[in-house]
Amino acid sequence: MFSKLRKLILNPNKYLYKLLRNKYTESPYPIEYYRDLLEMLTNENVFFQPFMQIESSKERINVFVRHDIDRQECIDNLEDMVALNKEYKIQSGLFFLVNDRTYNLSDYRDKILAYREDGLEIGLHTECYRFDDYMKEFKRETDRFEKVLGFRPQSFTVHGLGYRNDVRGQFYSVLDRNFKSTGYSFSDCISKFRSYDYVMEDCHKNSKTQKRFIYSDFQKLPSFLKPGENLLVLTHPCYWKV
Ligand SMILES: [Zn+2]
Repeated sequence: MFSKLRKLILNPNKYLYKLLRNKYTESPYPIEYYRDLLEMLTNENVFFQPFMQIESSKERINVFVRHDIDRQECIDNLEDMVALNKEYKIQSGLFFLVNDRTYNLSDYRDKILAYREDGLEIGLHTECYRFDDYMKEFKRETDRFEKVLGFRPQSFTVHGLGYRNDVRGQFYSVLDRNFKSTGYSFSDCISKFRSYDYVMEDCHKNSKTQKRFIYSDFQKLPSFLKPGENLLVLTHPCYWKV
């Protein structure tokens, strides 16, 4: 209750927007909707920032594009999404799991390294908090990433398991206290590096049907966003139909 009240007081327009926003459609989303989104953002004259860009524009809304690669279908559809990004000169961040449960990272080594050559950020998508000793697992995942792809990742994002959120919270508090010890230089999961004024994501979940859906923010930029603010476009290519 208090946190809702706090959000309302801090940013009433954002609070009301989130409360009233309309559902657009359910997954699988046609890939054309992704192009429409990039076109809409271009028409709104946003600044598409390279994912690792630290300095933000004060004159325009800063948009960062990130793809979390959760499953085989994500890898399968990634190429089409990256091709669209390229048309709009977007240097996105791509974040990969390393545990080979649904895709084998090593099978895609050459393709991933080519994306890196193109200037895209390639980082770890960690799920280390599946384990009680999450810092040990985080290091193991990082080592494995380096072994398979041949370079040490500089950035990471955190996979949502949907459970063990208490352990996930502990992991974040260690990162907050002692980020340096991880050897990483950036994560947008840590607010001291970057915070977002709004996140457009393709992974909202209908709690009854378990189906993923997107809001109409994919069609129209939320009006409360102002120049100088940060917007994240977060997608998982597996929810799209190419
Ligand atoms: Zn994920």
